[in-house]
Amino acid sequence: NKTLTIIGAGLAGCEAAWQAAQRGVSVILHEMKPEKLSPAHHMPGLAELVCSNSLRGDSLENAVGLLKEELRRCNSLIMEAAEATRVPAGGALAVDRQLFSDYVTAKITAHPLIRLIPGEVNELPTEGMVIIASGPLTSDNLATALSALTGDRLYFYDAIAPIVAADSLDMGKIFAASRYGKGDGDDYLNCPLSEAEYVAFVNELLGAEKVAARDFEKVVHFEGCMPVEEIASRGVETLRFGPMKPVGLVDPSTGAEPHAVIQLRAENLEKTMFNLVGFQTKLTWPEQRRVFRMIPGLEQAEFVRLGSMHRNTFINAPSILLPSQQLKNDGRIFFAGQITGVEGYVESAGSGFLAGLTAARLLAGQAQVVPPPETALGALMAHITNADTRHFQPMNVNYGLFPDLPGRVKKKERRGKLAERALVMLDEWKMSLQE
Ligand code: FAD
Repeated sequence: NKTLTIIGAGLAGCEAAWQAAQRGVSVILHEMKPEKLSPAHHMPGLAELVCSNSLRGDSLENAVGLLKEELRRCNSLIMEAAEATRVPAGGALAVDRQLFSDYVTAKITAHPLIRLIPGEVNELPTEGMVIIASGPLTSDNLATALSALTGDRLYFYDAIAPIVAADSLDMGKIFAASRYGKGDGDDYLNCPLSEAEYVAFVNELLGAEKVAARDFEKVVHFEGCMPVEEIASRGVETLRFGPMKPVGLVDPSTGAEPHAVIQLRAENLEKTMFNLVGFQTKLTWPEQRRVFRMIPGLEQAEFVRLGSMHRNTFINAPSILLPSQQLKNDGRIFFAGQITGVEGYVESAGSGFLAGLTAARLLAGQAQVVPPPETALGALMAHITNADTRHFQPMNVNYGLFPDLPGRVKKKERRGKLAERALVMLDEWKMSLQE
């Protein structure tokens, strides 16, 4: 069976369909719109940008700018549509969302090898290669089927704590230690707070501005992933008995446990990024920067990503996906887009690109290919498949995900050099595809 079935014609599904069809594969693309709309989708067409009309920064100084450039070089349909429908937006690539959706819809529906089938998919096809690209608001029936398929490794809400760059921390104020000395000594970094600092911090947290939840996002939070400001609202001492608990953490500079502690846990093996443990939050982004920079040692923190909590259907990719985005226990089935735990329009398109490319190659009897981790595409795939399975949360592309450059590189030159290396390796990788 040389047909590829794709479920969901959003950013990932359309890109995957295009890539596979351009390589000669017959594609059946299922989309529940316009018959059924998720709570965030409103337009009848494909590839709807549900919120901002910006695909974010376009410069190589920014990892999402690099990802865009890689996708352009790989003949991405989503990038082609974005260029064709671009609106002025300074350094960002923003589009007219109606024209963007129209452009993608026209290209997909005109392709002789793509058959678009409207209507909701409730069950997974039992035969043939399948890409599941049903997005962060996958319909309930399909989500039930996916829960069964993944052994309940499907989540419905994300709970993202801010992540800071390791080289922006003031290590004069922070100490490395695990609670009661368990594990490796430097598994956690700890920011100690005095009583006065703690009280001031809790007060600012309580007064800070929050993002209003949309109707479909109003949920009863599980105890384990409650927004940090909501824990704080239960009483001034509550955080000290929760995520800011100091017990078992002795500050070597005083020989005693601090009044309270904020723990930072490594986000990657290279320990270039750390997340604020238990600090998932709905504070607005400017407020997160202001309040979290009150934490001793984080005064100059560079936030690689800020915290958020959304309705978001995603799988525990590191436990069930191969780097090719195929299920480990059933190579017939791929996941693509936001449902894999990549976050963002361009990241979803990138994931769709790779799934479409790989599925087409496998159907043609060619070897599977994964881009090197030095590229933005490869770094994203490496992250979603190598991340810690116990704390997996969706992730935007960012330079913290890239392997370090050899030798010493000045900080202000680092991004440029990472981008340069990525594009050389991308071009080599493309050559190796021999298409
Ligand atoms: P989608 O683009 O959502 O595509 C999935 C498609 O599958 C949809 O068309 C849906 O109708 C269809 N579908 C679902 N279930 C079924 C089914 N059972 N049968 C058939 N079809 C089905 N990212 C940004 O970069 N910037 C933002 O501003 C932004 N805002 C967001 C706001 C909200 C409310 C949400 C939920 C997400 C937002 N994202 C944003 C994150 C994400 O990048 C986008 O959601 C992106 O569209 C994901 O691409 P995708 O292809 O994985 O999913």
